Amino acid sequence: MIERRTLLASMLSASLLPGAARCAAASQKRIAIIGAGISGLAAAVALREAGHDVVILEARDRIGGRIHTSRAWPDLPIDLGASWIHGIKGNPITPLARAAGAQTVTTSYENGMLHIDPALRALGVADTNENKMEALFERAMRRAAKLDEDVSMQAAIDAYVQSSPLTETQRAQLNFHLSSRYEQEYSGSTTRMSAQTIDDNDVFPGDDALFPGGYTQIIRHLADGLDIRLNQPVTRVAWDGAKAVITMKDGNTLSADQLLVTVPLGVLKTDAITFDPPLPQPKTAAIARLGMGLLNKLWLRFDRIFWPKAFDWHEYLSPRKGEWAEWVSLAKVNDTPVLLGFSAADYAETLETKRDSEVVAEAMKALRTMFGSSAPDPIAAQFTRWRSDPYALGSYSFNAVGSSNADREALAKPEGTRLHFAGEALSANYPGTVHGALLSGRRAAKTILESLANHD
Ligand SMILES: Cc1cc2nc3c(=O)[nH]c(=O)nc-3n(C[C@H](O)[C@H](O)[C@H](O)COP(=O)(O)OP(=O)(O)OC[C@H]3O[C@@H](n4cnc5c(N)ncnc54)[C@H](O)[C@@H]3O)c2cc1C
Repeated sequence: MIERRTLLASMLSASLLPGAARCAAASQKRIAIIGAGISGLAAAVALREAGHDVVILEARDRIGGRIHTSRAWPDLPIDLGASWIHGIKGNPITPLARAAGAQTVTTSYENGMLHIDPALRALGVADTNENKMEALFERAMRRAAKLDEDVSMQAAIDAYVQSSPLTETQRAQLNFHLSSRYEQEYSGSTTRMSAQTIDDNDVFPGDDALFPGGYTQIIRHLADGLDIRLNQPVTRVAWDGAKAVITMKDGNTLSADQLLVTVPLGVLKTDAITFDPPLPQPKTAAIARLGMGLLNKLWLRFDRIFWPKAFDWHEYLSPRKGEWAEWVSLAKVNDTPVLLGFSAADYAETLETKRDSEVVAEAMKALRTMFGSSAPDPIAAQFTRWRSDPYALGSYSFNAVGSSNADREALAKPEGTRLHFAGEALSANYPGTVHGALLSGRRAAKTILESLANHD
């Protein structure tokens, strides 16, 4: 990416630029962006289009952040971070996918097969009882909404069922519902997620679509021609008069007229980057209140497809909450003998501390319960550890007890006219998603351009 700088500089000579961009180029500013995830890249594209000199500082040796397509299996790209465009109708990722020439394939939660653990079958469990469990959940949340103080989802449910305790069967069905419907989606534990502000998010309609060729195609498309400097972990942000002075781990500095910070909430929660002056209390309080959850992926490759091919999803109703509850099959998507198992929240935290071989052994135990003891061992596996990743420190944000989308708005607020923020956690409408991060980056770019127009 770095080699493209010279080319970019020459492209930006005023004679090559159209009208509006030429005006901006006359007062071209240096804008630094910390982080080459989708929010930083989306902002950079908009700012470059306006004629500014944009530099992205990225800690990793790659771009994309929590969008990362592994090439460890050269014939089969697989996504270790985001996989889906959630709701393809009106979603800003849909036109980007088209522009990038990336093929998409839709999958449906409706097209799933349920596998019930024999121990639960012996108790008479025959299904997930989903409608009843969701009705119970909603009643418990409605009651919690009337409380003066927020409580966790789990506390709200426990209080609700206190007067008529659940049977063992119902408890297993409820745990499955909480895990598959809430923990897998929001990445927080039900013991930490807010009972009062969980349903504040918007969604796009339409199917979910994934990229058989990998989500990184979108990232490459956006990054084309941008000045991105890899292996540059930022450790300090300070000010010299009107200029931002950004210090990297190796002691090198870069100064800029405007600065956009897009590092994940998990990183903001640590002292990895010192802000001088420190961020004000409303921001630090919002950072502390919001939760950074965990969703990990286990990709298993087999020598043959030994499971029913017709389904996108396989669900496992286990006696233990969250245990390998959700699996996606690539058999229908592209005829490959690959299964993707998810772990979320508390179960994911436990698994993440185990060795790969132990994780695979646990997963195979579940798969053999689901598909029979003759299921072969995998020929290869890839497991993510987003909590231990120093440049993510978790998978995505969730509304923890006491937090709300007002905290996301507080985080998104610029500090003065030169320090700006973007990223999935700052999206009040679509947190925890690729499109939320993209829109947040575009919004920050607009604010930066307004700042430059009004104050410089
Ligand atoms: C396992 C998993 C599955 C997911 N599935 C989906 C899905 O299917 N669909 C969906 O819409 N969303 C999904 N998401 C969420 C989605 O991936 C994120 O919301 C989105 O990619 C976040 O983009 P971002 O730009 O806000 O942050 P990031 O992509 O994290 O970008 C921030 C960048 O900052 C860099 N950085 C960190 N610290 C420093 C530093 N000190 N100095 C310089 N750079 C630094 C990071 O390396 C990173 O590149 C998933 C996430 C995970 C982890």
